[in-house]
Amino acid sequence: MNTSGNTISRKDFIKNSALAAAGLTLMPNIMSASPLSDKQDISVKGKLNLKNVRLETGFEYEEGEVVATKTNLFCIEIEYGKIKSITPNKPNAKAVDAKEMLMLPAFKDMHIHLDKTFYGDKWQAVRKRTGGIKGMIALEQKMLPEMLKNSTFKAEKMIELLQSKGTSFARSHVNIEPTSKLDSLKNLQKALENKKKSFGAELVAFPQHGVFYTDSVPYLKDAAQMDIDFIGGVDPFTIDGAIEKTVDFTVQLALDHQKGIDIHLHETGESGLNTVEHLIKKVNENPTLKGKTYLSHCFILAKLDKSRQEEIAEKLAAARIGIVSTIPFGNLVMPIPVLYKHNVTVLTGNDSIVDHWNTFGTGSVLQKANLMAQLYSYSTEFLLSRSLKLATANVLPLDDNGNQQWPKAGDQADFVLMNASCSAEAVSRISDVKSLVYQGNVVY
Ligand SMILES: [Zn+2]
Repeated sequence: MNTSGNTISRKDFIKNSALAAAGLTLMPNIMSASPLSDKQDISVKGKLNLKNVRLETGFEYEEGEVVATKTNLFCIEIEYGKIKSITPNKPNAKAVDAKEMLMLPAFKDMHIHLDKTFYGDKWQAVRKRTGGIKGMIALEQKMLPEMLKNSTFKAEKMIELLQSKGTSFARSHVNIEPTSKLDSLKNLQKALENKKKSFGAELVAFPQHGVFYTDSVPYLKDAAQMDIDFIGGVDPFTIDGAIEKTVDFTVQLALDHQKGIDIHLHETGESGLNTVEHLIKKVNENPTLKGKTYLSHCFILAKLDKSRQEEIAEKLAAARIGIVSTIPFGNLVMPIPVLYKHNVTVLTGNDSIVDHWNTFGTGSVLQKANLMAQLYSYSTEFLLSRSLKLATANVLPLDDNGNQQWPKAGDQADFVLMNASCSAEAVSRISDVKSLVYQGNVVY
């Protein structure tokens, strides 16, 4: 962004044009020097005034049941990337006209592999799998050098896809193994740097080829000293042939560098359950990991009987270990309602958009919320409105009693404007995202 004057860069001009096409026009979004500027990089954070913004204000009840969601129009003032004020609407205010569209929290994709995709390149369907996960590792060892050649470009394309679906933040796993070494991470960091004005991310150092099956230890140790947020993992028993050795290494590395943990666990048998229980034990022994430890997929939960699901959910909640699920269906339906009942943190993501694992990612986490609502019969106004939290990483405009809790002055200005009358409709219809704002910058 050009901060030297009031000229609008080409990129901003294109964004303005896209916005105009969506029925909005952007005010010049140029920050002047501020006393804050040497404390934080505010040059990337925007200023914006909006009018005719629709916000949810409460529920309408009939005989104790929520039958509708009340909304009203407001003016929203944004400065330094944060919401400065929310005031009653003034239709004649000098501000960007949001055209009475519904404002919702920006979406978050909490499990994706931005570093490893075919998206933006030529179409390739998934090949027949041979040799299970180890066969896939052998395949990756062959493919990765080629994929890495333009992985920065493809990551940027994938970020643009996510943005077009209302997502402004991702937790991306990034391959750390002897084939990619730290190159996948470095290439992704370049893409994120190029997109930092419009997209945020946290990174998981992901030993896709095992911690010990291929010796990823030195690379993980190096990655832990770089700008990553979580230590990852995958199926310790299947790949490394050891649950405790691998989980203990992961936990220790996270502790040594004050990182979180996010482990892929696809195993559905005894080893899956043993891995869950061992991780719970380790987190309870090291309480600093509570609230920043996650199991991705965790398919074993779908295979347990109801009472066992309840018991494990209770233990996960007590250890504050979250579950990141892509909301699978078919032979495997996750006990998401049981997790919610016990207040386990549940997040979602696209995982794969188009890659050698899967080609069905739409890029939309709102679609995941819709899928959840269909799978678990969350079909009333109230339950649909609650389902939005899957897409927003648990931020909702209204609390369960219908009190307005988002947005508030001081919140980061990350939101979408949608063609919908309320959250319930947005989830049920997978309504169009007309605009995305990240830290006060109009992205899309
Ligand atoms: Zn994954």
